[in-house]
Amino acid sequence: MTTLPLKHLFDIPEGTIYLDGNSLGPLPVGAVQRATKVLTEEWGRELIRAWNTADWMGLPQQVGDRIAGLIGAAPGSVATGDTLSIKVYQALAAALKLRPSRRVILSDTGNFPSDLYMAQGLIATIGKDYELVTVAPEDVTDAINEDVAAVMLTEVDYRSGRRHDMNELTAKAHRAGAVMIWDLAHSAGAVPVDVTACNAEFAVGCSYKYLNGGPGAPAFIYARPDIVLAVEPALSGWLGHEAPFAMEPAYRPAMTTERLRVGTPPIVQLSILDAALDVWDGVEMEDIRTASVALCETFIEEVERRCPQLTLASPRDAGQRGSQVSFAFSEGYPVMQALIDRGVIGDFRAPNILRFGFTPLYIGHDDVVQAAEILEKVMAGEIWKEPKYQIRSRVT
Ligand SMILES: *Cc1c(COP(=O)(O)O)cnc(C)c1O
Repeated sequence: MTTLPLKHLFDIPEGTIYLDGNSLGPLPVGAVQRATKVLTEEWGRELIRAWNTADWMGLPQQVGDRIAGLIGAAPGSVATGDTLSIKVYQALAAALKLRPSRRVILSDTGNFPSDLYMAQGLIATIGKDYELVTVAPEDVTDAINEDVAAVMLTEVDYRSGRRHDMNELTAKAHRAGAVMIWDLAHSAGAVPVDVTACNAEFAVGCSYKYLNGGPGAPAFIYARPDIVLAVEPALSGWLGHEAPFAMEPAYRPAMTTERLRVGTPPIVQLSILDAALDVWDGVEMEDIRTASVALCETFIEEVERRCPQLTLASPRDAGQRGSQVSFAFSEGYPVMQALIDRGVIGDFRAPNILRFGFTPLYIGHDDVVQAAEILEKVMAGEIWKEPKYQIRSRVT
């Protein structure tokens, strides 16, 4: 078993306790060297030859296979590129085509807005009486019926950290004849995931959160191997074509998961992500989970004891939580600004959620206790009332 945390693998500023790796992972040390090499040696010296000489062309699949290893997917079943919103759109569009007689996309009200927006946009484009139905997370099971073409859920709720049961809901969706799409944005690298065991048709996710791929890092999409050839790509770009360089006038999808690629891969970002994934070599997700639960439990205990003004907004049962802890407080925004000013970086989600992500790769027990101590000072001293903490930035 690897001893966690592995702080030496990350470049985190001195004096910072980083509890926002659920939103943007920190800089892995190896990423700098890799990015420099890609820019100077590969792009700089090799120019366009690097697509072959540095195997840029193989990079999307290579990185997809590494992500596959973290989510229980078979090699070759994960395609990378674009953003998560795009991957949601592709999975949804393909799912609807797989169930042509059905008209409902079912999701929950806790889902991340962009996933719901993409569903709305897709429906607006195809028309034909399609409908997005959203119910409370706890009501999803009962809302799955034979009108549902696709159930689209995010396993771990971005606000509360509440976790759905992937196996159970997928089985329910399948009994009703629906296609299952899981968004793993807050799962990949955070909790053990086994997409193969869960048997969902699609899974999507991003790589800049718990996978530390950096701002704008490419997203990923998994398609269950037995349905790949039935997947009709809605975004039929040339790099999802069976033979991109044949330059054929008609689209012909690749005979693999690569059909879910669209255009030119973001090589610099993919390279950085590839280096970031080195961190996981020798790390077991089960060990990450054990450490994550311990960190979250400690934080809840410390904060509840020190800050009676805050209300836990995450499930109390660790089994129903991802790798984050949220607290509700009416003045959550200025509280978070005051905390950040004191080196504890979490984030705020409207309307009243203070959100803290726990990533055992670079957070240890002492960091958690110290963060709670600083939060106590901000709350008890009402430091958050200072006018400078009231000013809202564009990104919260
Ligand atoms: C972070 C997140 C997104 C963001 O999508 P991008 O296209 O990468 O900006 C989408 N969905 C969920 C569930 C998320 O947590």
